[in-house]
Amino acid sequence: MDNRDYDLIIVGGGITGAAVLYAVSSYTNISRVLLVEKYEDIATLNSNSRSNSQTLHFGDVETNYTLKKAGEAKREAMRVLRYIKLLGRDEQEHIIKGCQKMVLGVGDEETEILEKTYYSGIKRLFPGLKKAGLDELEKIEPNTVKHRPKDEKVVALVSDSGYMVDFEKLARSFVSRALRNKKAGIELMFNTTVRSLREVRKGYVLGTTKGELKTRFVVFATGSYSLLFAKMLDFDKNLSVISIGGDYFISKRMLNGKVYRVQKGGVPFAAVHADPDIRNPGITRYGPTATIPLKLENRGSTFFDYLRSFNYDIKTLETLIKVVSNEDIIRILETNFVYGLPVIGKRWFFENEVKKIIPSIKYEQMYHEPGMGGIRPQIVDENTRSFFVGASKLYDKNAIFNITPSPGASSALESGIEDMRYIAHGLGLRIDHKRFEAEMGSDKDGEI
Ligand SMILES: Cc1cc2nc3c(=O)[nH]c(=O)nc-3n(C[C@H](O)[C@H](O)[C@H](O)COP(=O)(O)OP(=O)(O)OC[C@H]3O[C@@H](n4cnc5c(N)ncnc54)[C@H](O)[C@@H]3O)c2cc1C
Repeated sequence: MDNRDYDLIIVGGGITGAAVLYAVSSYTNISRVLLVEKYEDIATLNSNSRSNSQTLHFGDVETNYTLKKAGEAKREAMRVLRYIKLLGRDEQEHIIKGCQKMVLGVGDEETEILEKTYYSGIKRLFPGLKKAGLDELEKIEPNTVKHRPKDEKVVALVSDSGYMVDFEKLARSFVSRALRNKKAGIELMFNTTVRSLREVRKGYVLGTTKGELKTRFVVFATGSYSLLFAKMLDFDKNLSVISIGGDYFISKRMLNGKVYRVQKGGVPFAAVHADPDIRNPGITRYGPTATIPLKLENRGSTFFDYLRSFNYDIKTLETLIKVVSNEDIIRILETNFVYGLPVIGKRWFFENEVKKIIPSIKYEQMYHEPGMGGIRPQIVDENTRSFFVGASKLYDKNAIFNITPSPGASSALESGIEDMRYIAHGLGLRIDHKRFEAEMGSDKDGEI
């Protein structure tokens, strides 16, 4: 047998690809698996600890989610907590830390959203979420109220069960656990770019910078690139990706936990928020911004690939015009355009975003951190003519294409488990349900 012939090839070594590798090697009888990664290591792009906000999203403080989406987020986050329990204390402490989290409403409109509409819907799903006014905030997160104008209304929904996660280390943990299973015959191939994909009689052939690879099943976990590969199979004509860049500013540590802001329903990403950093307890991060860079990734030059990711037809154009002409999206894009301008951008971000969270902070205390941040592949669905909130999957008979905007790191393990089931079905593998349920919990709702 040709030694470049595999049962499964996973393309992309971020947290999505790592989670598929973990799930399939731990809970099925697969053999001959290859993970191909363009760069030199696991999790160097969006899953890197400097690229994202390190939040394990549960859906309780994300006011842009529907109740259904919040329920899904909770389930996905619980699955991560199940995985964490399998690890030794030392590894756990490097990957995850508990922290307080809240969503803060400032002014009449935001406080009304939190108090009347949002809280009443969400509190059954999250009984631990508590309303906090000025007095309570003064005790638990004093810098959110210090020097706040007396007539400014504030209210927060607070939870003690927030988590910051080093998704880079979580991805590495998935890979090292997968490698423990010698029967799966796992190979890792770094510094190798997959350039093409074609279907053959019993699977797929992948053209790479190191020659051709053949596989019975392929999973793309390549962020924005997954859609480009799906299109190589003449696959889905109704999706496009817009890149939403996100940068961070930082200051010395000013807060005890995570402080999210109210985001309107239908907007597919969070409003600027403030977070601790799991690797650097001495700082607070502010962000991410929401810019529109003409590239697919933060590393290398991807401008021409960005151009290739669009459908050039009237329907796409109409859809793009419709999604960006939403009043809230226009406002976000306008303000974020200003944040990107030299000199005034930083000042505007400070006045408009950071001071809303910490009124007493001084301009000189905040600085831009180059290289911190990433690019979210935001899916535009031409069928519904709207942004798709959350990650998305496209399926061919023996191929899966994962496209992963925020909160894709929180949902990666659940997504990997979903892929594992589809792969097992496609390749006729046996799933070890007993081990799966013992380690990952029952599939029935609420029992994870
Ligand atoms: C600013 C920002 C903040 C975020 N905050 C959060 C958060 O707080 N919580 C949360 O859950 N999520 C968050 N996210 C989202 C989260 O970071 C991503 O959804 C997640 O990291 C995606 O993981 P991935 O493995 O799919 O993609 P990536 O980590 O980007 O990995 C994709 C991999 O595919 C490889 N690749 C691409 N093309 C090829 C090719 N042709 N051949 C071989 N390899 C290839 C890349 O090199 C890369 O290693 C945030 C994202 C951003 C940008």
